[in-house]
Amino acid sequence: MNFDDEVLIEINKNADLLSYAEQVLELKQQGDNYFAHCPLHIDNTASLCFSPKTNSCHCFSCGKSGGMIGYLINFEKLSFEEAVKKAASLANIDMSKMCQSETIILLRKWQRFFQQKEKQQIVHEVLPETAITKFAKEQITEWLDEGISQEMIDLFGIRVDTISNRIVYPVYDMNKKLINIKGRTRYKNYKNLKLPKYINYYSVGVMDYFQSLELTLPYIKEKNEIIIFESIKSVMKAYGWGYKNCVSAEKHTLTPEQINLLIKLRVNVVFAYDTDVDYHKGEIKQNIDRLRKITNVFIIEDYDNLLGGIETKNAPVDCGYDIWEELYLNKKKVV
Ligand SMILES: [Zn+2]
Repeated sequence: MNFDDEVLIEINKNADLLSYAEQVLELKQQGDNYFAHCPLHIDNTASLCFSPKTNSCHCFSCGKSGGMIGYLINFEKLSFEEAVKKAASLANIDMSKMCQSETIILLRKWQRFFQQKEKQQIVHEVLPETAITKFAKEQITEWLDEGISQEMIDLFGIRVDTISNRIVYPVYDMNKKLINIKGRTRYKNYKNLKLPKYINYYSVGVMDYFQSLELTLPYIKEKNEIIIFESIKSVMKAYGWGYKNCVSAEKHTLTPEQINLLIKLRVNVVFAYDTDVDYHKGEIKQNIDRLRKITNVFIIEDYDNLLGGIETKNAPVDCGYDIWEELYLNKKKVV
């Protein structure tokens, strides 16, 4: 059976997905949206989001989404024809109005596109532990001098690549699998030497994780808050001071995958970026705007120049505990 695409659009428009979902799923309202546990997998956080505004849904866990017809295909596993018929009856649209067209071919293509997308799941190569343990355990005096304790250095698995003179640290995914090694140069004059400050020892792939999240996740859940720094060093400082609910984004913009991860966590988000970052423009502003629709977003800004200004590029933890605490307590909610 073929269907005219205008009719399909009409069906999706007129079938109220939320009222249908209310009958089959347990929904919890959060802001403008409603969340349910995704029926497709074990889903502790209720990742399936229904938006009355767009009359559609999206699962932040498995990535499946759709309007009424797409919902029936993806989440109730109906065939395309069955889904159209059911959605049409929910929309009170007369099936006899449906006529044959090329649309079905297009829609099948669309379905294939989503199936393919599902297959392209992000896979990081898992490395043996020796990839990190082969590096030397050495005193990292410059970090100790900065107030990072040996205990933190050990906890975060920091070692030294004596050949390239880099401080190296392991990158784990959410399942605590080693997926990369990052190295930060120990040369102070690395710019003159034309050396990169950071290197990845293996290919990064899609950044669908945060540095150290595998370690700090329990504290993030406990505090219902995630503090995002730009570097692992900042995480280690904050962690050492008892602010254990933090991660490093490794840069100051977030990938769509990292944003989805934050949405999935459903905790308050605190951005604690270096002084040279302007939260109010560009990609970081877009990131914040997207997130604040779903959760509370706070920014830590150095209004009183406690960190020495933009040029210093200091992180909020770089001038000691007292200044960090003051900055943290003065974080501002983005509205
Ligand atoms: Zn799902």
